[in-house]
Amino acid sequence: MFTTIGDLLRGATLQLREPSTTPRLDAELLLAHILGWPRSRLLAERDYQPTNEQAAAFAALVARRATQEPVAYLVGHKAFYGLDFAVSRDTLVPRPETELLVELALAEARRLSSAGLSIADIGTGTGAIAIALAHHLPTALVYATDISAAALEVAQRNVARYGLDERVRLLHGDLLAPLPGLVDIIVSNPPYTILAEVEPNVRAHEPWLALDGGPDGATVYRRLLADVSAYLHPHGAILLEIGAWQGALVADLLRESYPSATVSVHQDLAGHDRVVRAVQTVNLA
Ligand code: SAM
Ligand code: GLN
Repeated sequence: MFTTIGDLLRGATLQLREPSTTPRLDAELLLAHILGWPRSRLLAERDYQPTNEQAAAFAALVARRATQEPVAYLVGHKAFYGLDFAVSRDTLVPRPETELLVELALAEARRLSSAGLSIADIGTGTGAIAIALAHHLPTALVYATDISAAALEVAQRNVARYGLDERVRLLHGDLLAPLPGLVDIIVSNPPYTILAEVEPNVRAHEPWLALDGGPDGATVYRRLLADVSAYLHPHGAILLEIGAWQGALVADLLRESYPSATVSVHQDLAGHDRVVRAVQTVNLA
């Protein structure tokens, strides 16, 4: 019996209906990966018959997806802010809600204008935030730090892919410590998850180092903000991704560490609090 693309996608979609909220999309991404095609070609060639080897390789990936392994790890990359990023099991998979952090940081960079703006992305993972910012701000210099050397290797591949070696500097170390001097904008999507409250199997696949925010999810914010004034120009801005429940807490921490700034909480497309921003609106001159 010959199996077409249409048959394979129908079967896999059924199989993934329970474990995934996006079964059809997952099936298409996995099959496109096996065939080495763009996803759009699957729809145009629904009657194409993959080889038995391809069908078997697809079945193996669908079975792994059925155990909640993220699609991005199975195919090795993930789209974020209109760009494509290599990912590995040492990096968090970039999330769509993090695009809000990039959008607000771009707006702030443009407000501060000035060529030669410097930005720091703390806990860069794949480099997604740093690279998206550098890509859209052609004169900005972006420092990107991470405590994970393995994550920085993935980030380096992404930096090279977008030709940004000159303007995205990857630095290994703890939070702000590796920065060579003061910057204009600090952005971070730090680990903020309360792991004790999360089902173990839900977190089985992504690195704990990328997620673990301590007992109340705010350990990394506290450490980061304790030092922030030593690394930020007086007119500088700070933008932090947060969990939906952390708006008031992180806004308070920011007001304490940066008393002259105006602090605001911003919602993502799902209506959840997602970014806290501290900007200097007073003219210091
Ligand atoms: N910025 C990426 C993104 O938004 O997709 C990754 C964010 S992930 C939630 C947090 C990142 O912070 C991980 O890559 C982790 O390795 C890094 N990290 C954890 N603790 C750190 C520390 N003390 N100093 C620097 N980076 C740290
Ligand atoms: N938003 C992601 C999640 O909840 C990452 C959380 C984090 O700790 N930065 O899975």
